[in-house]
Amino acid sequence: MEIAAVVKCSFIDYPGKIAAVVFTPGCNLRCFFCHNRGLIDGDSVPCGTTQEEVIAWLETRLGLLDAVVVSGGEPTLQPGLAAFMAEVRSLGYLVKLDTNGTRPNVLALLINAGLLDYVAMDIKAPTEKYDAVCGVRVDQCAIYNSIMLLMDGRVDYEFRTTIVPQLNREDILAIGNRIRGARAYVLQLYRAIQSAEALNNPCWTSASHPPPWLEDVQQHLGQIVKICLTRGFEISCIPEAQVH
Ligand code: SF4
Repeated sequence: MEIAAVVKCSFIDYPGKIAAVVFTPGCNLRCFFCHNRGLIDGDSVPCGTTQEEVIAWLETRLGLLDAVVVSGGEPTLQPGLAAFMAEVRSLGYLVKLDTNGTRPNVLALLINAGLLDYVAMDIKAPTEKYDAVCGVRVDQCAIYNSIMLLMDGRVDYEFRTTIVPQLNREDILAIGNRIRGARAYVLQLYRAIQSAEALNNPCWTSASHPPPWLEDVQQHLGQIVKICLTRGFEISCIPEAQVH
């Protein structure tokens, strides 16, 4: 598996756990708000750290870290993902996958092999806005199949949406209805991109929605999914530890 970067200790990437985060290069989407743009281009260069080096380093962190998060980019594009996760789990770590949900066959393989303890799947937009938000055509059958796989309940999971300015109240509630009954849905703060490239694209620099708007949407979603959390906003929210 190619490795683009490693964060050695994170308190925010796995709910209630201390985790290392392993980032893989490459992504099949081009979300305009992506803050990992350096990772997503096909020609992005891995950091030079090998899978073997990461495994050897993880052996030295036993008892200090609880989990390993595999993020990206889109990790399910990596042919060696399952083998890497199997090695990590054999050390005794919990494994979390961050995914955009476009590769349900890989997700099913990982679940069936018992390699996942937690999955965070992005749902970028309601169906009709998906392609515009992601910058490419997205197979909605694949997104649906990934949603169904997770809602089967064989692995802990959360769905999450970055609340970009282009998504209105009806859009967020439409996503909520698509995952009605889901265990956890997280609304993530949109951080406007500040770059020379972004200055030429007004939607990249728009402000996020104000807190009262978010509180109203969160309240309504709380009646649709089992638990609705916010992440990154400066308003009260349910602590992530309560997810478990
Ligand atoms: S799916 Fe994630 S990594 Fe890929 S472009 Fe979108 S935000 Fe970036």
